[in-house]
Amino acid sequence: MAGIYIHIPFCKKACTYCDFHFSTSLKMKADFVEALIQEIELRKSVFSHQVISSIYFGGGTPSLLTEEELSHIFEKLHQSFKIDDDAEITLEANPDDLTEEKIQILRASPINRLSIGVQSFRDDDLRFMQRAHGADEAYKCIKLVQQAGFHNISVDLIYGTPGMTDEAWIQNLQTCFELHVPHISSYALTVEEKTPLHQQIKTKKLAPLSEEQSARQFELLMREMSHHGYEQYEISNFCKSNSYSKHNSSYWKKENYLGLGPSAHSFLGNVRLWNVSNNMKYIKSLSKKELPLEAENLSQVDRYNEYIMTSLRTKWGCSIQQLSADHPEELVAYFKQEIHCHVEEGSVIENRGIYTLSDSGKLLADRISSDLFSID
Ligand code: SF4
Repeated sequence: MAGIYIHIPFCKKACTYCDFHFSTSLKMKADFVEALIQEIELRKSVFSHQVISSIYFGGGTPSLLTEEELSHIFEKLHQSFKIDDDAEITLEANPDDLTEEKIQILRASPINRLSIGVQSFRDDDLRFMQRAHGADEAYKCIKLVQQAGFHNISVDLIYGTPGMTDEAWIQNLQTCFELHVPHISSYALTVEEKTPLHQQIKTKKLAPLSEEQSARQFELLMREMSHHGYEQYEISNFCKSNSYSKHNSSYWKKENYLGLGPSAHSFLGNVRLWNVSNNMKYIKSLSKKELPLEAENLSQVDRYNEYIMTSLRTKWGCSIQQLSADHPEELVAYFKQEIHCHVEEGSVIENRGIYTLSDSGKLLADRISSDLFSID
């Protein structure tokens, strides 16, 4: 099985914390769709012997695609790939795009899962993040998509926002529980280089974010999710009734995926590829039938590091059996030696050769992974 990721590089406005690739000018959207169709044509042979089990429209803001643009893309995908009848087909959507009319268009398309960029049900947070929607819109759009028959939905929430009290954070989560959202992805607000948020902090217009607040609110997140019957199947991803995201799971399980659109990454065997992060260059290159991508072969150590970083974040953990099957003995021995102190201090749990993070370890996931990394 394999997956396809499609990056839609347009947004109505720039959120203050975002460092994804996008443009707020929609002028090139029609040309982009044509370039995407050309890219699908040029890369369709990649999966000529594999069945596609998930397609994910991410961005940017894929809910900016019109009915015609979506059907044009789906027609080309179906002509070019063998898509499983049960494939998970997700579209990231922002609340301000989810009008009744738009929801009907999405419902009539092959899309069967929506990932909704709510981020918060509080106007103060949404204004701070410069989101294009308000709290009311966020709440109402979830009701509307459910009434329209979309039940496989995920909501994104951000914690650690300045001014967000612990009570307000719990209230945000409570709103999701009341709305019976089966899948929640939740991330701490982080300061990425070259974002407006980074600039505000650098020029002292805003105090640095509080690490204590983020850590506390992450603990509250785990506690509340567990109380309400959600499984934390990855550090930032929670679901009920096994409604795991097939797409995310394929990343963590090292399945092949093809990334289409500007800035999209692909992972094919032992090769990682990435497209140019520039809409104009992407369109120009594909108009000449040239793929705008670069590639690198992953070394043995790269693959080991990648496995450690992704597997430890999941409930399935890092398996000695898997490590031994895919990596040389010296890397397995290095892992056993380095993981030992984390097991001793209780941040990692070992059970029959499977290593997973404890709740306290989840707060230190990045540090633990980097302790385990090897260098070429
Ligand atoms: S809508 Fe999403 S991709 Fe666009 S700027 Fe905001 S966070 Fe970034």
